[in-house]
Order: sequence, then C-alpha cells, then structure tokens
Amino acid sequence: MTAKDEIIYLDNNATTQLDPAVVEEMLPFLTASYGNPSSGYKFGAEARKAIERARERTAALLGCEAGEIVFTSCGTESNNAAINSALQFDPRGKHIVTSAVEHSAVRRHCQELEKRGSEVTFLGVDGDGNLDLEEVAQSIRPGTAIVSLMWANNETGVVFPVERIAEICRAKRVLFHTDAVQAVGKIPMRLRDSAINFLSLSAHKFHGPKGVGALYVNRRSRFSGSIIGGDQENGRRAGTENVASIVAMGKAAERAAESLSEEQTRVRSMRDRFERAILEKVSGTSVNGTGAPRLQNTCSISFDGIESGAALILLDRHHICCSAGSACRTGSQEASHVLRAMNLGEERARGSVRFSFGRFNSESDVDRAIGIVPKVIERLRGLASPISAGSRSAIQAA
Ligand code: PLP
Repeated sequence: MTAKDEIIYLDNNATTQLDPAVVEEMLPFLTASYGNPSSGYKFGAEARKAIERARERTAALLGCEAGEIVFTSCGTESNNAAINSALQFDPRGKHIVTSAVEHSAVRRHCQELEKRGSEVTFLGVDGDGNLDLEEVAQSIRPGTAIVSLMWANNETGVVFPVERIAEICRAKRVLFHTDAVQAVGKIPMRLRDSAINFLSLSAHKFHGPKGVGALYVNRRSRFSGSIIGGDQENGRRAGTENVASIVAMGKAAERAAESLSEEQTRVRSMRDRFERAILEKVSGTSVNGTGAPRLQNTCSISFDGIESGAALILLDRHHICCSAGSACRTGSQEASHVLRAMNLGEERARGSVRFSFGRFNSESDVDRAIGIVPKVIERLRGLASPISAGSRSAIQAA
C-alpha cells in the first residue's frame, strides 16, 4: 500500500477520500446494527430509521423533499434509471437529447439505446465546452422522451446552465435529467425552485463511500425503476438497502452542506494558484474550458508535445495521482472525447492532464505539485516527440 502522506492526491474527480466523520457514522451499521430495514421488529426499524435520516440529509444538500430521493448503487445506475424510465413512459418517445461530452454513464447507455432503436441527438459544444441553448431548444421535437445533460463536466469542470435548460424543457413539456455526479457538494443547489425532473449523484465524489448513489425524482414526475423485485425505496428501486453506505452518504451530504461555501473558496484558491504557476513555468500550455463557468476544483491542462499517458507514468513515479481526462479512460489509447468535441485539435486532446482538488488537499500538496509537474513535462519534451513506442518504454524504464 502507498503511504498516505507520500501521495499528492489530485484526482478528486475520480474519487475522494472518505471523511473520518463519515466512517465513524457508518461503522455501527457494518457491525452491531445489521438488521434488515424491511424487517418488522425493532432491530430492523433501527436500520430503517437510519436510512430515513440519510434521506433527509441528502435532500437537505439538494434543497428538495426527502421523499424525492431514491437510493441506488451508484451514479451510473441513477443515470441509466432516469433515461430508461422516460423511455418506458412515453410510448411515442424514442428520441433522446444529450451531449457529446457526457460521462460514459450516459453516453454509452445512449449509444446502446440507439442500437436498440432509439434516436439520439448528441449536441456539440464550442471550443470552451459551452452548449448553445438555442440548439438545445431546437433539438427537442415531437417524440423526444427526455433531455439528459450533465451539470458539470468530469474532465474540464465546465458547468452547463442546467436550470435554464430545465426551463426550456418544461416549456416544451419534455422531461429533463441531469447527471450532477460532479456538481453535488461543489455547487449549491435548490431543486425545489427548479424545473429539473431527475438528478443523479454519487457518494464517492463527495467524501462518501463507493457503491452508493441516489436519484432525485421530482415528486410530480412519473418514474418507474429499472431494478424490479421487492418494495424497497417505495417501490422505486428493489433490493435490500446498502444500509451502512446509505447512512454514510447521508453524513457525507451533511458535511458537504456545512462546508460547501468555505470549501468553494479554499479549493478554488488552491486550484488557481496551481494553474497560474504551471502556466507561468511551462511554455506551450493551455487550460481547457477557461471561457466557460468551471467547477472550482478542476484543472484540465494540455501540454504541447507530450502524450498524457506518458506524463501520468512519470507523475505517478513522483506520487502525484491525477488522470488523463476521466479515470474510466485511463489505460485507453484514445484521446479524450470531451476535448475532441471541443475541437481543440488532436495534439491538445492527447496531451491533456486533469488535476482535481478537494477537501483534504493542503497548500503543501500544491507546492509539491508545482515543483514536480514542470520538471516532468520538461523531461518528456526532452525525449522524442511525439512519444513513440520506444520512448514510452524508455520512460517506463527510467
Ligand atoms: N457521471 C459523472 C459525471 C462522473 O464523473 C462519474 C464518475 O466518474 C459517473 C457519472 C459515474 O458515477 P459512479 O462511479 O458512481 O457510477
């Protein structure tokens, strides 16, 4: 195991460290309080009560009613469930509107649905990652079952104006879902004042555990779950609840709500200091998405003349954890679909590295990263360019 104080963890969009307060809260439900929440005796009721408390805390973070939260196993499941439900309810609805920059949890699902007979419009973005709202409105047509657009992009941090998009959809009487996995806990939300029908979240992106998420289902929106079986979650998601993780997500949501505004400022200042220093010290560098509103924690940088895969290997040697676009794409030779959609050119897409900051980063992490990153890029540029298979193995051996 890597010693925790050795690593410089700058990959908070991939996953986050569990908050110790969250661990403390979940432990009793992994040990003593193991009752099934559906059981009729008091021991089961303990677990049921804890789940309802978690539901209230999660709802408080989103600014909605507790009854509008459906617990799931992850963000991916929530995304799949919202889109499947919309398709099921609208008999004419074969058409889905989404974007070319969505996470694979939406993009691949839509591609799969396309193969099964749905029609999908993948909206493009401009060079800064912005959507054209006129284009969103025009893409909606009779037979559009749902519009699904992410709140914040996991690679660039670019934020879409989802509340305005939801209004457009409401005016056209079309359901709107947002994948808010990267936005929850980073952007203040008040869903009760919005026209959003469905919203997905995932606990491990805001210091909760992996393998638990939720889908917000607006109380006036029709919804039918994808996992059929028992009556859990009010008949909206079958399967015995993952009690400890749900409790943990509730605590993580409470912690996020308490610290959101202070963390926004602190994390932004670390990210901005890092970004400024890298731009100053490394020539041929561009930050992606600067002309759009961005999450305060995300920094997607393209370095001319390098390949991100090679940079990750060397940065890893220096114990810096970061990624080339999304963590789900690490290991793939394909350049980022997000940067490609932004039409930034192949070189910029292939040379992009994502650094994402969070609650447990310190100014010392920033200092160390500012010391290491320029040296690594310089070293890579000193090797043959573009990186060939030969120089790749030279890096591996270095
Ligand atoms: N959506 C976005 C924007 C994400 O960044 C991720 C995870 O990286 C997911 C969905 C998938 O969430 P989960 O890992 O909980 O399935």
